[in-house]
Amino acid sequence: YAKTKQGDKIQVFNNALLNTFKEDAQIERDLQTALRGREFELYYQPLKDLKTRTYIGAEALIRWHHPKKGVLYPGAFIDIAEQTGLINAIGTWVLEAACRQLNLWQHHQIDISMHVNVSARQFFSGNLFDQVWNLVSRYRLQPGSLILEITETELMEDIDYATNLCTELSELGVGLAIDDFGTGYSSMRYLKQFPISKLKIDRSFISDLTVSRESREIVSAIIAMASALNISLTAEGVETKEQEDFLSEHKCHQAQGFLYSPALRESEFSQFLFKSNHEMIH
Ligand code: C2E
Ligand code: MG
Ligand code: MG
Ligand code: MG
Repeated sequence: YAKTKQGDKIQVFNNALLNTFKEDAQIERDLQTALRGREFELYYQPLKDLKTRTYIGAEALIRWHHPKKGVLYPGAFIDIAEQTGLINAIGTWVLEAACRQLNLWQHHQIDISMHVNVSARQFFSGNLFDQVWNLVSRYRLQPGSLILEITETELMEDIDYATNLCTELSELGVGLAIDDFGTGYSSMRYLKQFPISKLKIDRSFISDLTVSRESREIVSAIIAMASALNISLTAEGVETKEQEDFLSEHKCHQAQGFLYSPALRESEFSQFLFKSNHEMIH
């Protein structure tokens, strides 16, 4: 009897695993089609400067218009893309699309910086610098207007390589932001070692602000550290006025979150900027 039960369990486990494999394999095939078609789109989430109360940046976030499944968020496919190596092709597309858009904004005197997420595989691919160099010159991007985001854990995979690449990028005028700051295993040492222009405090600290004294202490300490090291700071996942008030009072530079806006399609994003700036002036 026990044996049968055990067998049942294994059976159930196998089916679940098999289904996951099948789904992943399907997504992999669909991703290849998506790359050839026009199924990806960048959405832009505004970044607010808490001092001037204006919007000064955008984070490009990829969305996939899947022919059968509708709009898919990166959580549904980025890991698979990373495992299969398809992330390199996707990342190349993302960088190109983001820089093309940034060039259009600059052409229309829209003074906004563009944040682009870069995956570890892309970062260590060996041709990120060439890619970025090409885009910056081809689109004549203003120095400082392009910022690459990478997580601390990813950055630490190869410290020497990362240090060199970050230095080269910063000489080109391209910023580097540590994404999800505070969630990795890395030490504070790299803040001294890498030419980092920005930290993005992870959403988990922000969502806890009003309930956890520890989170308030951690966020205040990060703000103090960033300002002492002259590194710009963005709080991610700001959803309430209370959170914004805390961040403003403690002189956090920028905020990003649903309190202001989710990521928007380009046309909506431009309208959002126009409307907000208009409200600021009047
Ligand atoms: P991330 O870079 O930390 O981006 C922030 C994520 O938090 C986004 O999710 C955004 O929609 C979400 N978010 C923003 N404000 C709020 C808020 O107030 N509350 C909550 N609950 N969430 C908020 P999204 O777009 O689903 O992206 C998830 C992750 O996927 C990103 O995390 C990033 O690591 C990755 N990703 C997105 N686009 C790309 C891309 O083009 N390339 C690569 N390699 N990764 C990407
Ligand atoms: Mg990011
Ligand atoms: Mg990220
Ligand atoms: Mg993040």
